[in-house]
Amino acid sequence: MGEARKRILITGAAGFLGSHLCDRFIKEDYHVIAMDNLITGDLRNIEHLFKLENFEFYNHDVSKFVHVPGELHYILHFASPASPIDYLKIPIQTLKVGSLGTHNLLGLAKAKGARMLIASTSEVYGDPNINPQPEEYWGNVNPVGPRGVYDEAKRFQEAITMAYHTFHGLETRIVRIFNTYGPRMRLNDGRVLPAFIGQALRGEPLTMFGDGSQTRSFCYVDDLIEGIYRLLFSDYAQPMNIGNPDEITIKEFGEEIIKLTGTNQELISKPLPTDDPKQRRPDITKAKEILGWEPKVSRSEGLKITYEYFKSLPEHEIKHKDF
Ligand code: NAD
Ligand code: UDP
Repeated sequence: MGEARKRILITGAAGFLGSHLCDRFIKEDYHVIAMDNLITGDLRNIEHLFKLENFEFYNHDVSKFVHVPGELHYILHFASPASPIDYLKIPIQTLKVGSLGTHNLLGLAKAKGARMLIASTSEVYGDPNINPQPEEYWGNVNPVGPRGVYDEAKRFQEAITMAYHTFHGLETRIVRIFNTYGPRMRLNDGRVLPAFIGQALRGEPLTMFGDGSQTRSFCYVDDLIEGIYRLLFSDYAQPMNIGNPDEITIKEFGEEIIKLTGTNQELISKPLPTDDPKQRRPDITKAKEILGWEPKVSRSEGLKITYEYFKSLPEHEIKHKDF
């Protein structure tokens, strides 16, 4: 008999990133305790793990008291709506999972002596007035604008996590994730990549918000998961950006999707949402120096894989576009 498996709790496990984290930690031979209330997630993302003896699933809202029997060595808190369409539809739950949910999980981590990593976001920088964004930048967030429910929940999440680290000596890690894409995103989650690919697959025009001059920097999911894995096992407790610094305007991005999918549709302009950040690009100097990490998958490779995934979905899912 080898050593007993380390036990890890992953919240938001049925979502896009959470499900990839489950796969990674199963591959590393952990006992994975997956938790999700399925508000934006889908059990199909993790159903291939259900047969494994080192995987268990709890259908639970982490904004309510969280109980997990037995030992716990690590907690990855990824539960939260993440796409603007989602968090604008369920703003109170978004605030609660970032605040109450994080508090519950920090309490659990403290009780179990577990190390906890939280999923923060580039949105803590709001509509940044410096580019790229280093971790030292404090951000430019409108707390009462529509995106405030997400941005401020994540800022509070960072603050309470750091307070548990400082005052209780809890082992904590904070990853600031920049726009990430890949298989298992929801085709109708409203984020720009699934929106554009879904429109191309349905033969509809691609809806570019505003004049498309705003920028984003897209990271392929495998690269992100590797960065998170390295951060968890590092001894770095300050926030760390993980993302791909290859910045592109939304207009150019739309043109890339048109080329990739071979659609004969065009980009059309729709109103720009309130407080939509004008530029976003991670400064990943710290990730490079401290974790020896940088992204490996180019946008053209990552987009090809993601397009194949979306194309392989059943016809009725591609056609179903209600948010
Ligand atoms: P997702 O919507 O696919 O996954 C989120 C999961 O959390 C879903 O399965 C949902 O059902 C679950 N959830 C939400 N509220 C819950 C609650 N109260 N209790 C239990 N489960 C709950 O989103 P994602 O893209 O996988 O994002 C995961 C995390 O990463 C989020 O915390 C998000 O803020 C963060 N993040 C993601 C990105 C990105 O580009 N994908 C960027 C920055 C930060
Ligand atoms: N966007 C767009 N068309 C869409 C969806 C989004 O032009 O159908 C734009 C959006 O206004 C933003 C960028 O694409 O400038 C990225 O949006 P997304 O919702 O993917 O993520 P965000 O980075 O804004 O959270």
